[in-house]
Amino acid sequence: MITQGQIIAWLEVFAHVIEHHKDQLTELDAAIGDADHGINMDRGFKKITTLLQSFTNKDISSIFKNVSMTLISSIGGASGPLYGTWFLRASAITTNKQILINEDISALFKAGLEGVMERGKTNLGDKTMVDVLYPAMVAFEQGVENNIDTVGALRLAVAAAEQGLKDTIPMVAKKGRASYLGDRSIGHQDPGGTSAYWMLRSLLEVVDNHGT
Ligand code: ADP
Ligand code: MG
Repeated sequence: MITQGQIIAWLEVFAHVIEHHKDQLTELDAAIGDADHGINMDRGFKKITTLLQSFTNKDISSIFKNVSMTLISSIGGASGPLYGTWFLRASAITTNKQILINEDISALFKAGLEGVMERGKTNLGDKTMVDVLYPAMVAFEQGVENNIDTVGALRLAVAAAEQGLKDTIPMVAKKGRASYLGDRSIGHQDPGGTSAYWMLRSLLEVVDNHGT
């Protein structure tokens, strides 16, 4: 189970983690993109930090909707609309909810991923955030099917995300700016996959520390 309060705490933690890793994300993007992923994400999530207070009396769906709109309007890069779509689909699947049970979280991960893949016309193996979000979604779902609790299933999801992230290193980029490099994108970790990994890891940290 994840509560509305934990969702707000997650957004706060993720914003801090992004700020902390801003330079690393930008360096990763400098290698295979245009060196702005850290800047983009930090701009978007700093804006979200200023909204957290106003989220306290909102349901989870409304919070996600606000996050989505903020990311779409404040991030110029490809990652803004993609993360924005993830949160928009998350919003659509959590209408009026104040808590999320494991089945809701599973549905949310699935809907968010499908949104990103549709919006980005992305396949698995294109060297994008999808290569992190996809295995994480599968691992969480398997955990839930095996009656593992939220923290345990999130642990499995984060471990799968970490492996997925490592697996982006030898891939040839097929989408986004990195695809312009062709084979020269080999050997570099995907920046958007890295932020997606931190997004899931931040959620695990919050749910783990605050209990369920
Ligand atoms: P931009 O590429 O416009 O500069 P960012 O640097 O903020 O935007 O984000 C780059 C990241 O966005 C990539 O590392 C990748 O993970 C993700 N990305 C780019 N295009 C796609 C796509 N079509 N589908 C999924 N993710 C994508
Ligand atoms: Mg970029």
